[in-house]
Amino acid sequence: MNLKNPDLNKLPRLAIFGAGGLGIEMVALLQKRKAAKLVGILDKNAYSFNSNGIDLDLTYKSLSKYKDVNLLENACSTEDSIKDFMQKHAKDIDAIFFALPNLPNEFIPNITKYIINETQYDGVIVDALKRTTAVKMLNELDSQLKNTNILYLTGCGCTPGMLTSAVSLAAQSFVEIKSVKITFGVGIANWQAYRATIREDIAHLKDYNVEKAFKMTEEEIDTLLEQRKGLLELENIEHADDIMLELAGVCSADKVSVGGIVDTRNPKKPISTNVEICGITYQNKESKHVFTLGDETTMAANVNGNVLGFMNAAIVLHNEYGVKGLMTAAEVMPRFAPVNIKCLTKV
Ligand code: NAD
Repeated sequence: MNLKNPDLNKLPRLAIFGAGGLGIEMVALLQKRKAAKLVGILDKNAYSFNSNGIDLDLTYKSLSKYKDVNLLENACSTEDSIKDFMQKHAKDIDAIFFALPNLPNEFIPNITKYIINETQYDGVIVDALKRTTAVKMLNELDSQLKNTNILYLTGCGCTPGMLTSAVSLAAQSFVEIKSVKITFGVGIANWQAYRATIREDIAHLKDYNVEKAFKMTEEEIDTLLEQRKGLLELENIEHADDIMLELAGVCSADKVSVGGIVDTRNPKKPISTNVEICGITYQNKESKHVFTLGDETTMAANVNGNVLGFMNAAIVLHNEYGVKGLMTAAEVMPRFAPVNIKCLTKV
């Protein structure tokens, strides 16, 4: 099989919404993991589209240096890039990755409503959403997504995402799940590389909430991080792994706890990311499975790698089996290989 150089025309046509930290890193990942043909990328003030495939090398170099979609080849400047892109190109794409901030909680659910109600899109959407409230809002759009033939797979990052999906797998050894404990360690060199991620993490701190974090100026965030020596220690936070495992029928949301440490000044992880699944076997023995991620894997590798894997899975479910509506990563296994692996093996 030719996975290194697959026929671009047989790969799903992907559009990345949001050219910030994860959006830019997704361009870099696609250079090495050819799971999709990137045809569109947009940020607040511009979009770029190329039906033959966007040049990944040039795009990554330009975005990581200038962070401006306006400077890309085929760029269209616009005040409302999502609307203008979807009005023109909804029929030219198979998958959308929302690499967008979700501040406030309804931001991504509202964009989804717009896509459902005002565009002709009928493909796949994947996100790396983190908040329980936001996933609940999306779940309410299930029947509307079904009516428009969209399959939306939510919570496809690392946590929620890979770890939640791993819990679904680990649970199979047990007849009852007693607890799921997710602990994440994230290290990034500077918070400006992942603005939305850090704002959303600040929203979990004592005396903060989503509205307050959304309204903070960059200077206020700098000051807060300075006071904390760059560290955000988060305990028992509202994270969608709980609702996702409940919707998947693995355990009730109250059995799931999530916390971690984010170092905004050091790319080295402060602690190892892991998930502990404690359950009772059918022979009445209590036991734990533990899944720990390698410390060398970055947040971008763990989030975007899974986003691609879940996108592959969603495309197969949607295009080959006609699945539509709202599903979460806890209900699906990600697929490493491109969607049309069977075609590729014949090449
Ligand atoms: P970021 O702030 O670096 O990038 C977001 C980009 O979206 C920015 O460039 C911004 O200009 C753009 N944007 C904002 N509003 C827009 C609009 N209306 N139209 C077009 N573009 C718009 O964000 P990030 O740090 O890369 O995070 C992206 C998302 O991924 C966040 O919601 C974050 O919580 C999530 N995330 C999930 C996980 C996980 O494991 N599940 C881990 C990390 C981040």
